[in-house]
Amino acid sequence: MEKIEHIGIAVQSLNKSIPLFEKLLGTECYKTEEILSEMVNTAFFKTGDSKVELLEGTEENSVISRFIAKKGEGIHHIAFGVENIEEEINRLKLSGFEFINDVPKKGADNKLVCFLHPKTTNGILVELCQEINAEN
Ligand code: ZN
Repeated sequence: MEKIEHIGIAVQSLNKSIPLFEKLLGTECYKTEEILSEMVNTAFFKTGDSKVELLEGTEENSVISRFIAKKGEGIHHIAFGVENIEEEINRLKLSGFEFINDVPKKGADNKLVCFLHPKTTNGILVELCQEINAEN
């Protein structure tokens, strides 16, 4: 894995949290994006080489809404940037890690993403993400 690409934070309301994080990080939100398939709205902030991703559920049964109902707002996942997501999935599977989805899907911010199951990663939801190149 290359680096921590971003940290995903579950929030009740992007409208309230975007100004809060702009103040906290001293930088403006550079992008918002709705991911229809995941029923989430996202907002991104650059923090050096890494990013902060805010996630707001758009439906009661979205994973983010259910996460907040259970645990409250807070850190939802840590995303590691990888060069070749298929290779990393194979490497991690061979090492005994389990995935929520082991077929990468299109996520926010022009990325292919997949998630490891927290039960095999000390309770941390881990995302792998690979930049989608123009030629893909
Ligand atoms: Zn993410």
